[in-house]
Amino acid sequence: MDNLKCKVRNVPDWPKKGINFKDITTLIQDGGCFKEVVDLLSDPLKGRRVDKIVGIDARGFLVAAPVAYKLGTGLAIVRKPGKLPYQKISKEYILEYGSDTLEMHIDSIEAGEKVVLIDDLIATGGSAGAACDLIEKQGGEILEVLFVVDLPYLGGSKKLKDRGYVVKSLVVYDDE
Ligand code: AMP
Repeated sequence: MDNLKCKVRNVPDWPKKGINFKDITTLIQDGGCFKEVVDLLSDPLKGRRVDKIVGIDARGFLVAAPVAYKLGTGLAIVRKPGKLPYQKISKEYILEYGSDTLEMHIDSIEAGEKVVLIDDLIATGGSAGAACDLIEKQGGEILEVLFVVDLPYLGGSKKLKDRGYVVKSLVVYDDE
């Protein structure tokens, strides 16, 4: 997927010093690449029972929504605190410094539903891990966890695989 990788913009020291931000806006601004990303994520799921696609706030929505549309499935969202209007469940997770929280509406997944979780990027795996917990708390069964970009040297994808999830990414960086 080198054609996709070369469209991801590296922004050094953003949002703070030491972080090499992988900016997917330059990837999805290109119509052909955006289509390829959506097709590569959704085509292997065709013909399988998928009840819900779940996207993580906020760049995950950009990819999860067209995948759900293409598959004709429902779309559920995992949001940062204070964004969801109805009753919700929350999951706090630990960051390098401090913690963060993700939320879902209590009725966003039905028990027994087969779910595919999508985000733009996996780094330490904190947010995807918390999203998996929120889905499973509602009784959802996670079929696959999909990312556009994986930074495996930060350990997140291994953490998810060690939990037993099927994890796939389109663009993988061996180092920063
Ligand atoms: P993590 O929870 O550490 O796996 O971080 C993943 C989330 O943070 C994703 O929703 C990404 O959008 C964002 N993120 C973390 N690190 C980066 C990075 N280096 N470049 C772009 N986005 C990042």
